[in-house]
Amino acid sequence: METLELDGARGEGGGQILRTALSLSMITGTPFRIERIRAGRKKPGLLRQHLTAVNAATEICGAEVSGAEPGSQTLHFKPGRIRGGDYRFAIGTAGSCTLVLQTLLPALWFADCESMLQVSGGTHNPAAPPADFLIRSWLPLLRTMGVDMDIELLRHGFYPAGGGEIRARVAPLAEWRPLHLEERGALLSTRAIGVVAGVPGDVAKRELERTSAQLGPLDEEIRMLPAREGPGNVLLIELAYQQVCEIVSAHGERGRPAVAVADSAAREARHYRDSGAAVGEHLADQLLLPLALAGQGSFTTHVLSPHLHTNREVIEKFLPVSFGISENKGMARVFVEES
Ligand code: AMP
Repeated sequence: METLELDGARGEGGGQILRTALSLSMITGTPFRIERIRAGRKKPGLLRQHLTAVNAATEICGAEVSGAEPGSQTLHFKPGRIRGGDYRFAIGTAGSCTLVLQTLLPALWFADCESMLQVSGGTHNPAAPPADFLIRSWLPLLRTMGVDMDIELLRHGFYPAGGGEIRARVAPLAEWRPLHLEERGALLSTRAIGVVAGVPGDVAKRELERTSAQLGPLDEEIRMLPAREGPGNVLLIELAYQQVCEIVSAHGERGRPAVAVADSAAREARHYRDSGAAVGEHLADQLLLPLALAGQGSFTTHVLSPHLHTNREVIEKFLPVSFGISENKGMARVFVEES
C-alpha cells in the first residue's frame, strides 16, 4: 500500500496530527511518513507521551517503525495486523495518559478479541483531556455510537510528578450507530469539582465559591486525594444535558490564585452554556475520528478550533470521507459523509 506523506507542521502543528495518523494507520493498514513532528510547539519532536503512543501502537499491530526516538521530528510507520490483548504502557513522565488512550482505543475497536489497556503517567494535564472528561464526556457518546468500552481512573497523576493510572476494557465493535448531536437537550445538572492532592482543601473551597459566584447555584464537590498523588489541583465544571455532558477544566499551579483558576474555567463554561451548541471546543475535535470511522454523523459546536481543522485534514487523507461545515450566527454544524 502506498505510504502517506504527512507534514507535522500543518495547522496548529501539535501532537494530534501524529496521534490521529497512528490510529488510522493501524485501522486502515496504510503506512505513513511524517516530517516536522510538532513543529508548532516550543519543544518540537517526540516527547515521552508521543513516543509511548508510537511504541504502544507498534506493539499492538506489530508495526515496522523508524525514527521512534526522543526528540525525533521524523517517523516512518508501517502497520501490521491489530491484535487484541492485555497491554500496559508507562509514559514515565506526567505526559498525558488520556491522549495515549485516545490513540490506541480506536484501533482496539477493530481487534480480533477483547482487550485490557492500562496506561500510567498524567491523568489531569493542562492542554489534554482530563480523565473525567474522557470518562463522562467522550465515552458515553462512543457508547451511543455502538462502542463497547469501559474506562476507569485508578489513580490521579498531575504535572510534574505523574504516577497516575487509567485502565480501559474494550471489545471489538459489532456495528456503528450514527451520531447526530445537533441539540444538547435539557440541562440535568451543573456541578463543580475541586480536586486537590497535597494541596490544602481550602484551595478547592475557594475555587468552588468563586465558580458559583460566577455561574450561579450549582452542586459542589471537593475531591481530597492522598498527598502522595500530588501535588496537584484541578477544577472541573460539569454541565450535564440529556444528550451530552460537557466538562471544562482549569489547573492550579504555584503562584496562580484560586480565583484565577475558577475564573478561567467559569469563563469557558459560560461561553459553552450561552452558545446553545451541543458540543464544546475540545469534544468537537475529538469526535471527528469516530464520526469518520462510522462514515456518517454530525454535531453543532460553537468553536471551530485549529485542532478541529487540522484533524479533519489528517482524517480525510486516510479515510474515504469528507467533512462539511456550515456556519450560522456563531454556531457551526459539522457533518461527515462518505466521499
Ligand atoms: P495536541 O495539542 O495536538 O497535543 O492535542 C491536544 C488534544 O487535547 C486535543 O484533542 C484537544 O481538544 C484536547 N484538549 C486540550 N485541552 C483540553 C481540555 N481542557 N479538555 C478536553 N480536551 C482537551
